[in-house]
This record gives sequence, structure tokens and C-alpha cells, in this order.
Amino acid sequence: MQIFHDPRCTDYGRPDHPERPERIARTVPFLKGRHRDWQWHEPRAAADEELLRAHSREHLARIAKASQDFDLDTPAHSKIDFHARQSAGAAIEAARAATGGKRAFSLMRPPGHHAMRDRAMGFCYFSNIAVTALDALAGTGVVDAGPRPAATTAKIERVAIWDFDAHHGNGTEALVAHNERIMFASIHQYPGWPGTGTKSFANVLNFPIAPYSPRSNHVRAAEQALEKLLEFRPELLLVSAGFDGYKNDPITQMMLERDDFATFGKWLTDVKIPTAAVLEGGYSNDLPELIDAFLSAWDSATAG
Ligand SMILES: [Zn+2]
Repeated sequence: MQIFHDPRCTDYGRPDHPERPERIARTVPFLKGRHRDWQWHEPRAAADEELLRAHSREHLARIAKASQDFDLDTPAHSKIDFHARQSAGAAIEAARAATGGKRAFSLMRPPGHHAMRDRAMGFCYFSNIAVTALDALAGTGVVDAGPRPAATTAKIERVAIWDFDAHHGNGTEALVAHNERIMFASIHQYPGWPGTGTKSFANVLNFPIAPYSPRSNHVRAAEQALEKLLEFRPELLLVSAGFDGYKNDPITQMMLERDDFATFGKWLTDVKIPTAAVLEGGYSNDLPELIDAFLSAWDSATAG
């Protein structure tokens, strides 16, 4: 397992905000203690040209100059431009590792799936996953595998995004809707924040789950979503891995157990295409165990 992580992503925060540094600060030693063989990589910042595939120039400028909070959930943290670029860069690098044959996870904050083309919201500043999907489709990250003919390193034509965070991936949806080379599926609580994601259309599959639904219903919806995505025959699968569907999460009303995240990881071992996952939400004190359950199950097959 390849983990993309910058220790500086815990350098910012605001008291009593659920998206807090401890989420990552406690996960890192937990994973390192349990998995000596996993490889850790420091990401680099996403460049303007990469972010501009999903965001406007005005948005980049607003994040760079952030002085006023974007909304009640989304503060103008000090150096948030740096941190948001590192997080997007980590997602891009995780996907490139995946296309190179590795299993890869971006363990970073801030998350990204609520960020819109022109708006930061819901703890998110840049759309890490949409930026990454569009980067993969642009083909700039394809590694020439050496002696094989160039034809075998053709760029990726189709990307699927599986978003099992408990909130609707509204930013991702807005950024990839009607892109024929991307299929997006979101499984999320509804009613719930941000209040979207009730209907499927074009390349967008939404699976709303009522609060306090039995976990078996939730898991089955996640499985159906993944099956639908694989019918699209993607050459790269990106996962918006949010762990706030957990029964003890403080900001949602879902019923998933730790074992269900292991089940999600296990399904990825059966997906025979390059796959990279990116951390989105997850606000309970059990987050390190939930991430470990997901990644350990995913890593349990041979190779990678
Ligand atoms: Zn969430």
C-alpha cells in the first residue's frame, strides 16, 4: 500500500471544528504501527494548470488570498492555499501510483468532494477527486513503462468515481456531470447536508439513504453503486473514501460498522483495474480504526 501524506496537513485548524488535525495526527502512528511494509510518500502541491481543469482562475485567487471565512463550515485558515494544494497534489499522485500498478491512498486534509468550480464549502476548498479524474483523462501522468511499445501506455479513456462519504458529493457531481468519460456514484444520507443528490441523471448515480437505515441497506446500495460503475468499464477507479457513515460519527445519522468499511476495502481487491482512494470525511474518534479496516482489507490480496 502506498500512502500519500504530508505531516504539515495537521498544522491548521479551528477549535471545535469537526474537521480537526487529530483526525490525521492519530491515524498516522496507528497505521505505521500496524503496517511496517506500507510505503509513505510526501506529495507535492497541485499546479495551477491542474486545478484549473476543475476550478476557475477567480476561485484559485480567492483561495490564495483567503482572509474571510468562506462559510460557517469552511474557515479561511492560515495558509489554506498551501494545504489545499498539497491535498489535491496527493490525490493526483495517488492516482498516478494506481495507474502504475500500486494500491494508493491519500491521507490528507482538507477533504474535497463539496468544493465547487467557484466556491469553497463543506470543509472543502479544491475538488481533489475531480482534479485527479481530469488529470488522469488528460493523460499527463502516464508513465512510459520502458521497453514496451508506446501503444500500451495509451492515456486513460474512462474514469469512475465511487463516493461512499456520508454526505452527497455535490461538488464532484457538479464538476463531472455530463462528462462522457467519467461515471460518478455517490451513496449518502438523505435527508442530510447538503440536501442534494436525490436523483440520478446522465453519468451521475445517486443513492440516497434515509437516516438510521439498517446498515445492510446502506452496504447493498454501496455495492450496487460499485457494480454500476464497473459496467462503465473504467480504466481507473477513484474512491472518495469518507468514514462518516459510521454509526458513532458525530455529524451524521448512519449505521455503518467498522466491518462495513472492511467490506468496502475487500471489494476493491476484486476490482481488477487501477484504484486510488482519497480521504474525505470521518469525524468520530474511531477514524484511525475505520481507515485501517478499509485499507487492510483492500491490501489483503497479493501484490501492490
Ligand atoms: Zn462527509
